[in-house]
Amino acid sequence: KLYNQVQDLKGSIRVYCRVRPFLAGQSNRLSTVGHIEEGNISIITPSKHGKDGRRSFSFNKVFGPSATQEEVFSDTQPLIRSVLDGYNVCIFAYGQTGSGKTYTMTGPRELTEQSLGVNYRALSDLFLLSEQRKDTFCYDVSVQMIEIYNEQVRDLLVTDEIRNSSQKGLNVPDANLVPVASTSDVIDLMNIGQRNRAVGATALNDRSSRSHSCLTVHVQGRDLTCGTVLRGCMHLVDLAGSERVDKSEVTGDRLKEAQHINKSLSALGDVISSLAQKNSHVPYRNSKLTQLLQDSLGGQAKTLMFVHISPEPDSVGETISTLKFAERVA
Ligand code: ADP
Ligand code: MG
Repeated sequence: KLYNQVQDLKGSIRVYCRVRPFLAGQSNRLSTVGHIEEGNISIITPSKHGKDGRRSFSFNKVFGPSATQEEVFSDTQPLIRSVLDGYNVCIFAYGQTGSGKTYTMTGPRELTEQSLGVNYRALSDLFLLSEQRKDTFCYDVSVQMIEIYNEQVRDLLVTDEIRNSSQKGLNVPDANLVPVASTSDVIDLMNIGQRNRAVGATALNDRSSRSHSCLTVHVQGRDLTCGTVLRGCMHLVDLAGSERVDKSEVTGDRLKEAQHINKSLSALGDVISSLAQKNSHVPYRNSKLTQLLQDSLGGQAKTLMFVHISPEPDSVGETISTLKFAERVA
């Protein structure tokens, strides 16, 4: 029992850092990442006069630029099992725009077997494990996909077929909750969600970097011997870009977006860090995102955050503020 308590204390919030490689055509550039060793990373902060500075940060693990999608997913696998055991899980991707959040969660634009992101791997593991347990448990799986933009929730799973076959979401009563039976069902839904997300966005106005997208998987398992029902859910969240917008340069809609993003990311940071510190008051009410995830953050729930950084020297300011954010919640 004591062992379990210790595990719970240590295991409920984990923070992983992932460094994006340089992109094609950037190969000879200098990286701001100095040294990576297990959970430690040091960042070189260039100085105009004299010696460059160095800052070190520690996390549960750091994935360097050559880490594969499979390696990045490998530590997530135990969480999938706990969803089937009736626990709630949140997995977040945090970082400035272009640092690799969507790559980690979904993958690159052209997907291959190797490049599939956490979302696909998590779902296919979920179906694999539920299949292995089919003599003892009967699982019903359903999926919800929403976007939060300017503190407003939008359902991404809206088509005529879905309307007829779905239930309504739990925390988001307006959102469709669609039953799925296989990974390919989920892929179809994710494609619909991606398409709906792009609606209204132009090339110049890519809204996806300024909204949070959240794929939620609800699992209900009935124990075939005693009839007990377990409910678990997993939220896979690709957060809005964390970059600070220079307030003197933006006005109107762009300023409003920036303020909403700031507010919701700091609300998320406040919730996770007060959970990590075991504070008695956890400020869930300060943003739409933390309200929606309230019953999956804290308590018995498990949280995993992937923080992403870009290696380019001109991103060093954002890199440091990303790592500071991450250290605060770790
Ligand atoms: P974000 O979602 O944080 O804005 P993206 O995931 O869109 O960033 O990544 C920006 C670009 O970098 C994309 O072209 C993506 O394919 C590429 N990229 C990101 N991470 C990696 C990685 N680990 N390996 C290879 N390419 C990556
Ligand atoms: Mg993205």
